[in-house]
Amino acid sequence: MRIANLDNRLVLLTGDALAVDVEQASGGLFSSDPQQVYSRWARFRAWADHAELPGGTPFDAAELGSPAPRPGQLLAVGLNYRAHAAESGFTVPDTLPPVFTKFASSITGPVTRVRLPEGGHTDWEVELVAVIGAEARQVDAESAWEHVAGLTVGQDLSERITQMTGPAPQFGLGKSFPGFAPMGPCLVTPDELADPDDLELGCTINGESVQKGRTRDLIFSVPALIAKLSAILPLRPGDVIFTGTPAGVGLGRTPQRFLTDGDELVSRIEGIGELRQIFHA
Ligand code: ZN
Repeated sequence: MRIANLDNRLVLLTGDALAVDVEQASGGLFSSDPQQVYSRWARFRAWADHAELPGGTPFDAAELGSPAPRPGQLLAVGLNYRAHAAESGFTVPDTLPPVFTKFASSITGPVTRVRLPEGGHTDWEVELVAVIGAEARQVDAESAWEHVAGLTVGQDLSERITQMTGPAPQFGLGKSFPGFAPMGPCLVTPDELADPDDLELGCTINGESVQKGRTRDLIFSVPALIAKLSAILPLRPGDVIFTGTPAGVGLGRTPQRFLTDGDELVSRIEGIGELRQIFHA
């Protein structure tokens, strides 16, 4: 099953990439609010799996918002691919990766224009994003997928000068400028994917490939992250986890490279879809 946020309304996507309005199709059983669905995820799945859906309507990806527009928590994981940890000059985490937040005001839909912070070094990080569908407290990895509503594509845009300012890194602020957390285009349930633990992900700048990896190379997989995180804090329905980026970010290049006025960044994950950001000064 695929759901999306079409102009702030929850929609189901049919096989022909048409949108069916959930509130209308369910006769008001489910709210039009894309964020609220996660708090009734099991009931929603049961309804959607058997609903007689009307024919959907075509839409433009630019009309989509984030499939989780107002998560209670957005957790983001650093250094979760070996080659990215190496290019960043850090050792590989063994028991717990660094975890930070991107503040919720930075969340947008999949197709956007993003202003480059003045005097900054804005970098790209394509990431698999998991959205929680059932509360997770001290969950073991074996049952962790049962707590995931679905997966989407995220860009952990990062302004490296702010991120590195001061005596300790400022991950939260450096990664939370307006528009720095695009997500989408839709949420895909894990059963839709041949192997949700092994998806190709990557991004291009103006058509040039800059990142390409596979999620099987995550040091802490989605289930391992849910186990580690839920041992410390509850993960609640609608919470969002950015799972970390593979190698190829601008900071790790020689010479370093950052996004400039007019660049178009396209981020893709196999079986889910793509994000498209155009940057301006
Ligand atoms: Zn990241």
